[in-house]
Amino acid sequence: MAKRRLSERQRQRIRAIQEQRRQRLEMRLENERLEQEGKPNPPTAGTVITRHGQNLVVEDGGGQLWHCLSRQNIGDPVCGDRVVWQATGDRQGVVTAIQPRRSALRRPNYSGENRALAANITQMVVVLAPEPPPSRYLLDQYLVAAEKIGVRALIVLNKKDLWDAQAQEVFRRDFRVYAGIGYPLVRVSAHRRQGLDAIERHLRGETSILVGQSGVGKSSLVNALLPDLELQVGRLSQTSGMGRHTTSATTLYHLTAGGALIDSPGVRSFRLGWIDQRQLEQGFREFRPFLGRCRFSNCSHTHEPGCALRAAVHEGRIDGERMANFQHMLATTPARK
Ligand code: GDP
Ligand code: ZN
Repeated sequence: MAKRRLSERQRQRIRAIQEQRRQRLEMRLENERLEQEGKPNPPTAGTVITRHGQNLVVEDGGGQLWHCLSRQNIGDPVCGDRVVWQATGDRQGVVTAIQPRRSALRRPNYSGENRALAANITQMVVVLAPEPPPSRYLLDQYLVAAEKIGVRALIVLNKKDLWDAQAQEVFRRDFRVYAGIGYPLVRVSAHRRQGLDAIERHLRGETSILVGQSGVGKSSLVNALLPDLELQVGRLSQTSGMGRHTTSATTLYHLTAGGALIDSPGVRSFRLGWIDQRQLEQGFREFRPFLGRCRFSNCSHTHEPGCALRAAVHEGRIDGERMANFQHMLATTPARK
């Protein structure tokens, strides 16, 4: 009888079934090990709230916090990660798997590796203020970063108490373009607690981070949005038993008005890293209808004839300063090697 030939698809299916069996066996062995240790607990879902070295604080579905360690070889769980974990003792547990991430905020560590800082963010809040003066270039870099990570962006103008009517008018004129391309903009004063409800509406249902230049009022905003910050930090250090120095670690806070805020000095000072031309083009969302329409497929949109992007600027369909910022980023931002 002729030997039965398997199609590639059948072979893939067999491989997948074997992988599932391996994973189930691993899970069973893990459970047996826990049972032998007198800790028979089923695996459940949780969220990493913060991490300090090997120590994780995981929140279960009921909002309880657990001090967990991570199984080796599962990768590096970070703040915001959805994980599978099992209780091993009183408020103690072990993380056995990281669920696929919806998004990841990455930055190079000291040895130049791009490490995740936080996971599953859904929104970047870019904070501007009259002082230090707002830079549209920096704002555009943040917006490109948000598009690259695949999260929403919200622009917050803080310290509105410092602006007279004339300054407001100038700002409105210079920043009107952002509302036009779909980035909501809210004006607030952290000091006077004005406009906070407008921010809270945008934060509800999202997991957000705050970014922006030093001095724009990010910590003032965090304090205004999290009246129970001290309480949350206290619960965390109690769980991890690590004291308050852990506040420099990236941490997920629950907002009273709904939604979550992931914050740390590292997150606040996040900047756009390497990016290639295609990602940069996609990072300017209003460019998208014109991409692929230039006469030359490798158009750099600087001098070539038949450039669809420059034609759009000429027709007033793309803002000239956004285009200039794109070109400057293209010339100065390192691309991945
Ligand atoms: P960060 O560096 O972005 O975290 O900014 P901070 O929160 O430390 O604020 C920088 C400075 O701006 C501090 O002196 C704050 O008191 C001040 N500041 C923050 N929010 C406001 C505001 O709404 N109005 C005014 N007038 N000053 C503010
Ligand atoms: Zn072009």
